[in-house]
Amino acid sequence: MNGRLLGNEGRDHAQKALNLMEQFNVPPTPENYAVWVSFATDSNPELCNSIKTRIETNEEFTDAVSADLFEQYFQWKAVQDAVLESGGAMSRELGAVKQSLEAAERDTAAYGEALQGASTELEGLRDPNGMKVLVESLVSATAKMQRRSQDLEKRLQETSNEVTQLRSNLEKVREEAMTDALTGIANRKRFDEFLRKARRGADGNQKPLSLVLCDIDFFKRFNDTWGHQTGDQIIRFVAGCLTRHSDDAHLVARYGGEEFGIVMPNTSPADAAQISEKIRRTVESKKLLRKSTNEDLGNITVSLGIANYSGNESIEELIERADSNLYRSKTEGRNRLTDDKGEESSANAA
Ligand code: GH3
Ligand code: MG
Ligand code: MG
Repeated sequence: MNGRLLGNEGRDHAQKALNLMEQFNVPPTPENYAVWVSFATDSNPELCNSIKTRIETNEEFTDAVSADLFEQYFQWKAVQDAVLESGGAMSRELGAVKQSLEAAERDTAAYGEALQGASTELEGLRDPNGMKVLVESLVSATAKMQRRSQDLEKRLQETSNEVTQLRSNLEKVREEAMTDALTGIANRKRFDEFLRKARRGADGNQKPLSLVLCDIDFFKRFNDTWGHQTGDQIIRFVAGCLTRHSDDAHLVARYGGEEFGIVMPNTSPADAAQISEKIRRTVESKKLLRKSTNEDLGNITVSLGIANYSGNESIEELIERADSNLYRSKTEGRNRLTDDKGEESSANAA
């Protein structure tokens, strides 16, 4: 049945996705299938680039990498769905209010007519009884109107509460979608968004824009020795160091597993290097203790790469330059930073 629904093209895409998954040893879970069909159909440029880079660098598609890909490119879709759903709820609510308002308007018109009729009747009225009946009918019409406007007020209040609640839910979802769960700092999605905006800002105001990438040295070894949980503790510690040394206007993000990025708008390369150096020293000098047992974990170090936005390059090119400077810090011995001039700074440098 699926075959018929999918049609030839759909079947080809599905087959292509499954072949690729087999080729790269990716288990055929629904999440992985979603990722690879998207790749096979070239339907998400960011996802495609991310997978292509991994293939080119012979990176294995481990469970962690697969989970990361799914989370990064598909959880986001779930958030968008949640946003659309909330938007739908809001417009349903507003539709109900509009109906209440229209009903109130009809009642007000009817009330107006009742008053108009009463006024005409009054002109020719001599009989006190008739007057009594008329006044009673006016009192009853007024009471009805009062009830109606109280109902309306209540309805409006409820709607206003509902809309406030929806808005705060949306804000929470948005915030969560942009935050890295382990460290509480911005995630890759927010990093990309912020960097794009910062680049536009730099184009507009001719101010410098610096980008720092930071990667923990020999982290795999650390993880293997002390376990993943202690590794997580270190990731949180490094995230804290980056945050502490950055300005409020900078954006510190977890860029990948044990990699971080700092987007520094209005920041010269020299200032970016100074901040990076402070970070490097702080990390290096901290004596680390294992939280659960108080064991001495020794020290860890980070390597950093700095790139300054040239004014006529894409976000990808800017990241690429920071990344190659970071790579240079790694190959030249780690625990150091490298900037666009190829200058390094490390504990051992003069
Ligand atoms: P290098 O100095 O060249 O950066 O060496 P490295 O070992 O740090 O580099 P590599 O990129 O090979 O290893 C990164 C390791 O980070 C692999 C993975 O085990 C670990 N890692 C990635 N994400 C997480 C995470 O969320 N928690 C923990 N504990 N470890 C992670
Ligand atoms: Mg790394
Ligand atoms: Mg590393």
